[in-house]
Amino acid sequence: AILQRFSTAAAAEEPISPPFQVQDKQLLIGGKFVDSASGKTFSTLDPRTGEVIAHVSEGDAEDINRAVSAARKAFDEGPWPRMTAYERSRILLRFADLIEKHNDELAALETWDNGKPYAQAANIEVPMVARLMRYYAGWADKIHGLVVPADGPHHVQVLHEPIGVAGQIIPWNFPLLMFAWKVGPALACGNTVVLKTAEQTPLSALYISKLLHEAGLPDGVINVVSGFGPTAGAALASHMDVDKIAFTGSTDTGKIVLELAARSNLKSVTLELGGKSPFIIMDDADVDHAVELAHFALFFNQGQCCCAGSRTFVHERIYDEFVEKAKARAMKRVVGDPFKNGVEQGPQIDDDQFNKILRYIKYGVESGANLVTGGDRLGDKGYYIQPTIFSDVKDNMKIAQEEIFGPVQSILKFNDLNEVIKRANASQYGLAAGVFTNNLNTANTLTRALRVGTVWVNCFDVFDAAIPFGGYKQSGIGREKGIDSLKNYLQVKAVVTPLKNAAWL
Ligand code: NAD
Repeated sequence: AILQRFSTAAAAEEPISPPFQVQDKQLLIGGKFVDSASGKTFSTLDPRTGEVIAHVSEGDAEDINRAVSAARKAFDEGPWPRMTAYERSRILLRFADLIEKHNDELAALETWDNGKPYAQAANIEVPMVARLMRYYAGWADKIHGLVVPADGPHHVQVLHEPIGVAGQIIPWNFPLLMFAWKVGPALACGNTVVLKTAEQTPLSALYISKLLHEAGLPDGVINVVSGFGPTAGAALASHMDVDKIAFTGSTDTGKIVLELAARSNLKSVTLELGGKSPFIIMDDADVDHAVELAHFALFFNQGQCCCAGSRTFVHERIYDEFVEKAKARAMKRVVGDPFKNGVEQGPQIDDDQFNKILRYIKYGVESGANLVTGGDRLGDKGYYIQPTIFSDVKDNMKIAQEEIFGPVQSILKFNDLNEVIKRANASQYGLAAGVFTNNLNTANTLTRALRVGTVWVNCFDVFDAAIPFGGYKQSGIGREKGIDSLKNYLQVKAVVTPLKNAAWL
C-alpha cells in the first residue's frame, strides 16, 4: 500500500505544461511584492533544458534587513501573536483549502523549477502540504502552558510563548514541503517568519505565500526573500533581530549557520542536514519486494533526498539474486520529461549537482566497485542521469561514505547481524535507516541498535504530519513535524507568585 501511495508512475490528469506565465518573481516583504534594494535579479532554470524560466529579484543583506524589520514589527506590534489562537487556526485552515484549490498550479510550478515528476508533486507533495497546514492549524489552539507544583508556598505557571522572528533557510529538493515543515509550526505558535528559499527553486514559495495572504494572514507575518546562501542566507543567520534560525541543507552549510548564529545573538538553531542512510535487507526477505522497496528508497525524487537509502546492505545468502533483480528494476525505470505521464525520474536540479553525481560515479569505478548498470548522462540536453547501480561496494569507498544526492545505488554485502549494525552505524550521519525482515526479534534488535532519527521497518519514506523527523550525529539538531516541532518555535516562561494564607498551608 505504501508503495502504491508513493508511486509516481500513476497516471495524473493532463498537467499544465510549461511554458506558462510566472507572475510572482519579486521579494515578498511586509505583505507586498517588491524589487530587491539593489535592483538585481538572477535566473531560475528549467532542469529539463538548462533554459531560463524567469528572472527573479535577488535579495541580499539589505533585503534581509528590510524583511526582518517587517517581521519584527509584525511580531512586536501586529495582530498575529495577539489574536486568539482559534483565529490563527482558522487562517491556516483557509490556507489549506486554497492550497487544494491551487494544487495543479503549485505542482506545475514545482515540477518546472525542480524537475520532479508532475504526478509526484500533484498527487503526493502538494496534498501533503495542505495536510501539514491542517495538522498545524489543529495545534494552534492546543498550545498552552501548565501549572507545576512548588515546594514552597508559591503558585507556579509555565507559559509557552512564541519565540519571535523565525529565520528559515530551505533547500531545493522539496521546495514546497520544506516550506510547510518550517512555516507551519512557526505560524501555529504565533511567530513571524523570514524565509530564504534556495536559489535553484525560488518560485513555488512566492506563489504559495500569496495564498497565505489570501487566507487572511496579516502583512509582515511571512516574508520571502529569494537569493543566495553566502549573501542572503548568511545575513539571516547572523541577524541580531532574528530570534531563531531553522535550516535544512548540507552538513557543511549547517555548521556555518550554527557558527553565524552563535557569533551574532546566540539565536536558537535547529538543523536538518545530510545523511547516508543504510537500508538493511535480511536473508528472510521476499527478494522481489525488497528490491522494489530499496529501489524506491534510493531513486525517489531523482535520489535527491537527505534520507535516501544510499547504502543498500544485502545479506550474502540473497545477494546475487538481489543484485540481478535490482539491475532489472533500474533498467526499467522510466526517465524523461517530468511533465509526461508515467515518468518516474526527471532531471537532476542543476549543472553543479549533475556534475557532482557524475564525479561520484567516476570515483566508484576508480575505487573498484562493480558498475552494474547506468553510469552516464542520459540524452544531450538537461540534467538527466541514468539510473545507476554499483555492487561490491566497500565501506571505505567515497560512494559509501559521502552524500551523492543522485540516482546512484550502492549495494554492500554482509553476513551477520552484529556486523551490519556496526557497519551501518559507522557513519558521520544518523538521519534514517530502513530494515527489511520478517523476524520481529531481528527488527527490534536493529531498530534499537541503529543510531538514527527514523527507522522504517518493511517500508521507507513514510512521512506523515505527526511523525517527527530529524537526525542523530551530524545529521542535525532538533526534530521537525509532529509535536516535537512546536518546541522549536516556543519560549518557556516560568511565572512564580507567592501564595498567602492559603487554606492548605
Ligand atoms: P546547501 O546546504 O549549500 O544549501 C541549502 C540552503 O542553504 C540554500 O537555501 C542555500 O542558499 C543556503 N546556504 C548556502 N550557503 C549558505 C551560507 N553560507 N549561509 C546561509 N545559508 C546558506 O546545499 P547545496 O549547495 O544546494 O547542495 C549541496 C549538497 O547538500 C547536496 O549535494 C546534498 O548532498 C546536500 N543537500 C542536502 C539537503 C537536505 O535536505 N538535507 C538538501 C539540499 C542539499
